[in-house]
Amino acid sequence: MSVGFLLGYAMGEGAAARAVQRAASIPSVSGVSTGTIEDLSERIDRLVLLTAAMWSILEENGATEAELIARVEELDSADAVLDGKLTAKPTPCSGCDTLVAPGLAACQYCGEAVRAVDPPGPFHTI
Ligand SMILES: [Zn+2]
Repeated sequence: MSVGFLLGYAMGEGAAARAVQRAASIPSVSGVSTGTIEDLSERIDRLVLLTAAMWSILEENGATEAELIARVEELDSADAVLDGKLTAKPTPCSGCDTLVAPGLAACQYCGEAVRAVDPPGPFHTI
């Protein structure tokens, strides 16, 4: 159940399947190559596998669906917007310690380059 819930929460299973099928049937979508779309599809497949593995471990250890849903909503609302996404957070600048807005390559105040931070644990391979 819960893998389906997570996928449905993120984009809806039917919508995801239709988008992949539609994208694969045309040579490019607004400049995005089919190779990029296939790569994204493979990344989604790995994410689904990782999510299924994590949920099976959690269920074996007594986690409930209600706990999962509550945690998803907690993480989703961390940026004060319930939108079904984990939104990037500002990064502390190593030069002046102010917060640098997500997506910027350098601090907006002192110009220090922002170091990319890999996602923790198994997510860095997705
Ligand atoms: Zn700075």
